[in-house]
Amino acid sequence: MHRQTRAGILQIMLKKRKKTKPIFIGNVGVGGSHPISVQSMTNVPTDNVEAVAAQICKFAAAGCEIVRVSVPDKQSAEALPSILEQSPLPIVADIHFDYRLALAAIDAGIHGLRINPGNIGSRKRAEAVAKAASQKSVPIRIGVNAGSLEKDLLQKFGGPTPEAMVESALGHVRILEDLDFNAIKISLKASDVISTVEAYRLMSKKCKYPLHLGITEAGTLFTGTIKSSVGLGILLADGIGDTIRVSLSADPVEEVRVGWEILKSLDMRERGVRVVACPTCARSNFDVSAAATEIERRLGDLLEPVKVAVMGCVVNGPGEARQVDVGAAGLKKGKVALYLKGKRVRTINEDDVVDIVEKEVRTLAGKN
Ligand code: SF4
Repeated sequence: MHRQTRAGILQIMLKKRKKTKPIFIGNVGVGGSHPISVQSMTNVPTDNVEAVAAQICKFAAAGCEIVRVSVPDKQSAEALPSILEQSPLPIVADIHFDYRLALAAIDAGIHGLRINPGNIGSRKRAEAVAKAASQKSVPIRIGVNAGSLEKDLLQKFGGPTPEAMVESALGHVRILEDLDFNAIKISLKASDVISTVEAYRLMSKKCKYPLHLGITEAGTLFTGTIKSSVGLGILLADGIGDTIRVSLSADPVEEVRVGWEILKSLDMRERGVRVVACPTCARSNFDVSAAATEIERRLGDLLEPVKVAVMGCVVNGPGEARQVDVGAAGLKKGKVALYLKGKRVRTINEDDVVDIVEKEVRTLAGKN
């Protein structure tokens, strides 16, 4: 697709991103005109410093920009200074109910807090947390989850409706605003796509704070990826969202990879290789699936945006291969045409496709 045409289509398809009030989680800007960032969450015990630090490093390598760590008890809070020392990413401490853990996390130097001020008891406690967070420039994310809404709201709205979620979030927001605390981010997560989308749409109309998007408890790698892609895709196309987390019952590194693919597919961020590959049919002249999968795996470390096409035959192969940086399109009898920057350059053997495409991509990316 011609660049101009593509830009025009994107302009029609995607609503202008809503400008929210920017905050900083460590050195990562969130909201305003900052790029939409990709988050994930560690899933090993927080008091196991080595395991947490190792997981955060894996997240960082996959492109994670902000990491959340649960702090369920005192031991976890005590581990935070050592984790922070080793973490290449800003850390958000996830705390429920116990305001003393929030104070300990702020004291340890965390970059963001996820806590609902309405759930920590008296106003005095909320005041103590807001004051400490304010002094250390630590933003607070209010995280409303459909599964843990206040009883009175469930009664008032007849269940965990999008309206109930928004009202819950606004209640927490008011507590912080009354304390003159405005470095706020909000999430409204339900495990079904429709409720989540509606809740964020309502919230986006009612507030200026950055929104952290996610479909909570979305499911396994397969179903969770689909639900998250649909839900987050709708919202992002609506111009809503400042950070995203794809929740998967899988290795959280996959959450980061899926998050990036969602943003890349909407041309909202660029990072690494994008592989176009045909589904193959009876016309296919080589093992496209194996080659495309291996190319994607081998080039997973690249940060530079490079487009690759792996196509089975001459029906759609040349067309797709010409539109990318490096393309391979099947010919006949084990031969494959290689394309570089829109031009067919030579014929290669099917067994060499992966090696040659990798080499050409790395050369282009300046990494050879
Ligand atoms: Fe089939 Fe060729 Fe299309 Fe691939 S490019 S799906 S092999 S027709």
